[in-house]
Amino acid sequence: MSFRLELGAENGKPRYWEVSCDFCEVVGSFPFAQFTDFPAAFKHAVLSGWSVAETARGIRYSCPSCTAGREEEE
Ligand SMILES: [Zn+2]
Repeated sequence: MSFRLELGAENGKPRYWEVSCDFCEVVGSFPFAQFTDFPAAFKHAVLSGWSVAETARGIRYSCPSCTAGREEEE
């Protein structure tokens, strides 16, 4: 698996979650203070329009705009 949801830290403390699109390099982030565990952060990313597709190579994230453009594509 190649999760692209990562925890960013500043001064040794977790500060934000960063999610990056595997198709266009768009990066989104949201504060760690609001989502203190991985499942909560993951759910928030999905609710924000990010999607997670399983491919032969693992799991890939796509940003809201790539998700919209790939609806009928396979
Ligand atoms: Zn994208």
